[in-house]
Amino acid sequence: MTEATPTAESKSSPAEHFDVLVVGAGISGVGAAYHLKHQCPDKSYVVLEAYDTFGGTWHMHRYPGIRSDSDLYTFGYRFKPWSGPPIATGAEILKYMNEVIEENDLDRHIRYGHRIQSAEWSSEDNLWTIHATRKDTGEPVHFTANFLWMCQGYYRHAKGFTPEWEGMEDYEGEIVHPQTWPEDLDYRGKRVIVIGSGATAATLIPAIAGETEHVTMVQRSPTYFFPAPNRNEFADTLRAIEVDEETVHDLTRRKILHDQAEITRLSREQPEDVKKLLLAGVRMYLGPDYDIEKHFTPRYRPWQQRLAFVPDGDIFQGIASGKASVVTDEIERFTKKGLLMKSGEELEADIIVTATGFNLSVLGDIDFTIDGEPLDFAKTVTYRGMMFTGVPNLLWIFGYFRASWTLRVDLLADFVCRLLNHMQANGYQRVDVALREEDRDMELLPWMDPDNFNPNYLMRSMHLLPKRGDKPEWQHTQDYWRERKEIPAIDLTAEEFQYDRETRRSDS
Ligand SMILES: Cc1cc2nc3c(=O)[nH]c(=O)nc-3n(C[C@H](O)[C@H](O)[C@H](O)COP(=O)(O)OP(=O)(O)OC[C@H]3O[C@@H](n4cnc5c(N)ncnc54)[C@H](O)[C@@H]3O)c2cc1C
Repeated sequence: MTEATPTAESKSSPAEHFDVLVVGAGISGVGAAYHLKHQCPDKSYVVLEAYDTFGGTWHMHRYPGIRSDSDLYTFGYRFKPWSGPPIATGAEILKYMNEVIEENDLDRHIRYGHRIQSAEWSSEDNLWTIHATRKDTGEPVHFTANFLWMCQGYYRHAKGFTPEWEGMEDYEGEIVHPQTWPEDLDYRGKRVIVIGSGATAATLIPAIAGETEHVTMVQRSPTYFFPAPNRNEFADTLRAIEVDEETVHDLTRRKILHDQAEITRLSREQPEDVKKLLLAGVRMYLGPDYDIEKHFTPRYRPWQQRLAFVPDGDIFQGIASGKASVVTDEIERFTKKGLLMKSGEELEADIIVTATGFNLSVLGDIDFTIDGEPLDFAKTVTYRGMMFTGVPNLLWIFGYFRASWTLRVDLLADFVCRLLNHMQANGYQRVDVALREEDRDMELLPWMDPDNFNPNYLMRSMHLLPKRGDKPEWQHTQDYWRERKEIPAIDLTAEEFQYDRETRRSDS
């Protein structure tokens, strides 16, 4: 079904009103629904989701072996114990989310098959008007909401990022992106090249290696991996002494977060020691003769990019067994039969998988207007990576990369609910974040400091994202350990929050 762009006529059909409209039913949107239900029981809300089901990332990715690369004690919600192995498959994550939906009767708040195209803010009414299209009927539908809670993730689901290489059109085999993995792709007995060395490549390669003739991972530069058994000894001990699952969940989260804080600190203060430790883990699987320096020693410091946990070192087991291998070199071009590398080496393959990352999607590719003016998100300044100057009554959940995304879902959900309850108690209709007098001369910088975190998809799209300042209020620090103290302590009466600005202005 093609999606209709709302016309002037279709926009005139009646809009349904909700206090809060949540965009997306991935792990963020389902978390938002849970917290609204429990912390703002008087608020009406709806979740609009483009797919026919929940899960977002975990519904959409279907490549073999799809799994988390962070542990589910912290990738799971704070309120719902996780009792499986720390690294979970996509299917296990969906099952967990389904339980959250069922146990809390959230389904009746979620409208599936609703893709949002545009959102218009009116200062006259202090309302968002949202235009969407129903997938089943193609019908345009309209909603109004006081508050927009953006849980649309950070990347475009429809199409992954594939660089343009010379000669791609000459290649006679099949080119596949993991984001759009064909259900019927037959890789058995075939020669497969996987371009990329991130978490996706590390997941996919061990999952298919056994059935292929051979898999070659082609990488321009190496990534850090953290191989370890897929179990949490601390949690297992607690279970063995019959501690209840809620306590196991809570204590295991604390323990993991404590350990991660240590690794993050060490990565910053003693990067060489952490590097040695990580490489020793790889060496354990690949033996003394393997060229770890060339294939597994990244150019960046540990934690400058996401560190992928590799359960039981499975990718290294594949390499050690000879079913998989690594080529570290730049691609010169595609050939009829595979790839020609800059070194002159030629690699042949029946299938080439481009595990080359995402296209960043800013605010769900929704056209935003503020009082009739198109919103240029890049001209706004972010308030703690969640709200934006000049964009009233809106919050975006952009999670953590060094820690589990969902930690920020719970943390920001507490904040949104506190903000909504504060506004209700004071009769406010509108909240803006605005630079204070002391921020006027603040230098405005790109969204993320590349020295702090620099994955390619962010570097490619930094110009589309809001600006950051040089104070914690105006940055997404990506630092969970700091935010878990700072966010609950935010003073909602502080100067950077402006309530009912228009009304106040006309009163004065
Ligand atoms: C393969 C893979 C593995 C990952 N593993 C981890 C991990 O182990 N740990 C970790 O912390 N993070 C991981 N991440 C990052 C991951 O994306 C986030 O952790 C998290 O799942 C994002 O959840 P979300 O709900 O914010 O966004 P998404 O999962 O992207 O869901 C967003 C939802 O919003 C919907 N939506 C978007 N735009 C619109 C629109 N205009 N109208 C209606 N609906 C819309 C989408 O259809 C989608 O369902 C991984 C990412 C990938 C791709």
